[in-house]
Amino acid sequence: MKETYAAVLRKIEEADSIVIGASNGLAISGGYNIFAENAAFIENFGDFCEKYGIRSILQGAFYSFPSQEEKWAFFSRMYMYFLENEEVSPAMKNLYELVKDKNYFVITSNTDAHFELAGFSKERLFEFEGNCRKLQCSNSCHDDIYSGDHVLREMAQKQQNGKVPSDLIPQCPKCGGPMQMHVEVDRNFLRDPSWQASYDAYQNFIKTAHGKKLVLLELGVGFRNQLIKAPFMNITNNEENATYITLNKGEIYIPQEIASRSIGIDGDISAVLAQLVQLK
Ligand SMILES: [Zn+2]
Repeated sequence: MKETYAAVLRKIEEADSIVIGASNGLAISGGYNIFAENAAFIENFGDFCEKYGIRSILQGAFYSFPSQEEKWAFFSRMYMYFLENEEVSPAMKNLYELVKDKNYFVITSNTDAHFELAGFSKERLFEFEGNCRKLQCSNSCHDDIYSGDHVLREMAQKQQNGKVPSDLIPQCPKCGGPMQMHVEVDRNFLRDPSWQASYDAYQNFIKTAHGKKLVLLELGVGFRNQLIKAPFMNITNNEENATYITLNKGEIYIPQEIASRSIGIDGDISAVLAQLVQLK
């Protein structure tokens, strides 16, 4: 096992470019499980479970609330759950420690805004399913994205009996319609110019890495994921100097075609990252 860790560190050290692909597994190893009805969920969202039968953060995010007051009670609470302490998990801190001096780019489906909080540069980050700190018009009447920090914090603090005060509910400044968090929970999700710019930056990063020593570091991405895992495998297959490194708990899958250029570590991602930083 020690040799595997050493090999991972050597590849990172030697890399000209590192692409990090992260999904729920990384967040879960850091203690944020949006799928689970665990103690943290009951503590933070127990009233939503009782009132609506919502059993996870994910179910809440997709739930059709009867009113804007109730919808924002949930979403502002979710915002606070992710961001109240402005503190990220040791897993996120160690990941940043591992690559902060390297030429990196991050692509993630996580919407908890923890990459930026951990120190990752906004210019090197593509949150393709959005970010819980941002708001958009629910009617998609225009494609501006708004900072939601202030209003979300206030709605979280002033909500009572599962409702936020009506006068705090954000309204679209153009059409006057309802707003929603800029996370992909329905077809309204806006791929606005800043989303497009991040997408372009990601594509450009891959293009620029062509022929160079490229590490594709995948963290907690599920087997069926087509948005990170499949492209990472394709790039590894096409780039002779690429190395595919996958960290996952119980779900390591490496196709035969790229096995000679791949390293997989099965285990708790947080513990693996801590170990890597320690050995660095
Ligand atoms: Zn609008």
